[in-house]
Amino acid sequence: MTARRYKHGMHTCSTTPHAVIIGGSIGGLMAGLLLRRIGWRVTICERSAVPLSGRGAGIVTHEALWQALFQAGLTEAQRHGVVVHDRVAFAQDGRELARMRYRQIMTSWDHLFGMLRALYGTADYHLGQELAGIVPHAGHVTARFVDGSALDADLIVGADGFRSTVRALASPNIRPVYAGYVGWRGMVEERQIAPATHERLFALFGFCLPPGEQMITYPVVGELHDTRPGHRRGNYVWYRPVEAEHGLRDLLTDARGAYHGLSIPPPLIRASHIDALRRDAALLLAPDFADLVMTTQAPFLQPIYDLASDRIAFGRVALLGDAAFQARPHVGAGVTKAALDAVALARALHGAISVEAGLEAYNAERVPEGQRIVQRARHLGAYMQAHLATEEEREAARQHHSPEAVIAETAVADI
Ligand SMILES: Cc1cc2nc3c(=O)[nH]c(=O)nc-3n(C[C@H](O)[C@H](O)[C@H](O)COP(=O)(O)OP(=O)(O)OC[C@H]3O[C@@H](n4cnc5c(N)ncnc54)[C@H](O)[C@@H]3O)c2cc1C
Repeated sequence: MTARRYKHGMHTCSTTPHAVIIGGSIGGLMAGLLLRRIGWRVTICERSAVPLSGRGAGIVTHEALWQALFQAGLTEAQRHGVVVHDRVAFAQDGRELARMRYRQIMTSWDHLFGMLRALYGTADYHLGQELAGIVPHAGHVTARFVDGSALDADLIVGADGFRSTVRALASPNIRPVYAGYVGWRGMVEERQIAPATHERLFALFGFCLPPGEQMITYPVVGELHDTRPGHRRGNYVWYRPVEAEHGLRDLLTDARGAYHGLSIPPPLIRASHIDALRRDAALLLAPDFADLVMTTQAPFLQPIYDLASDRIAFGRVALLGDAAFQARPHVGAGVTKAALDAVALARALHGAISVEAGLEAYNAERVPEGQRIVQRARHLGAYMQAHLATEEEREAARQHHSPEAVIAETAVADI
């Protein structure tokens, strides 16, 4: 395999296979690190002009994620986070409804991203490079960027998230489908949490279950990945049904009347929606959970979508992570699935007779897995949907809404 590179007029040749990875977040970095380990040259192109660090919230980790991170080059000493031992579901009046022992390490997106970014290094990671088009040729493929530059490669990996440009080019019929509810998310500094709430809730993976809704909370590492008591953060997500036509559209419309499509930047969420959220918290949530919502300066909104692809390999182009599949968050699989996709991609390409054959093997392994995870997450979240359209959804809503089911099934290792 040959690799050629044209950029701003530059042209070089080498016999080392070259992958251009679109998207420099966790999926892109994992793919880059693992492809380097099998001898590829890698160039990562990230649209954002500024570093991605400092923006994420909490991540529930699974053993499979750590094993994938170790394969990419992290070490056991970097396994770091806040350890949670118990899951507890609470009623709206604060009574305990169900409890389960389940040990898990809670970390933050920023911590994982920071470790991978440092391991990858500064070379061949380009900010402000937004993919605009892909041109296939016999034996190679070219990525064209918005700034007019181009990179020639043996393989293009679309690790560009659930609004993927690579997917839009390769598989335009696959689009995110709104699930019928949103997640309101927030992070609270541990020291700002009222002492009584802290004592009852902070150390737990806590669940509060108003009818048709769900709020989860767990502790995560604080600034600079601090795990010391007093320096951590409380992280929460409150899932609420919102119908698509008017409710969601209104939430995604800013104070100037501009509608923001799939998601709205946090600073543009209208103050009236945050006021309403706080009022509802006092009415609907157990007092300790309401306290967290009240304490958050700026809760932000995540509409929940399902995204399932039927193919993730197209000649010399592969999709990975959220670009390929996005499951509702209840399975806690986003980062883990992206990491396992990267492991599978490198394994399939290692020793393959051609890039195309390697990608076919990758497609055969990961498409059924991605579809299975998306379906599982649909079932777990069905009871929060504004509308239950099918008998399958109604049955899933019945099966997965009890406090015992919710604490036993949410974000467990067996996704
Ligand atoms: C800043 C940030 C913070 C996050 N925080 C959390 C969190 O707290 N909790 C959580 O569960 N998940 C979080 N996520 C999402 C999480 O990373 C993913 O769900 C999961 O890890 C899969 O990652 P991914 O790399 O496939 O996609 P993503 O993490 O979505 O990354 C896709 C990347 O592709 C880039 N991109 C998009 N289009 C183009 C283009 N045309 N050209 C070049 N680059 C492009 C985007 O800027 C982005 O950096 C965050 C993502 C980002 C980018």
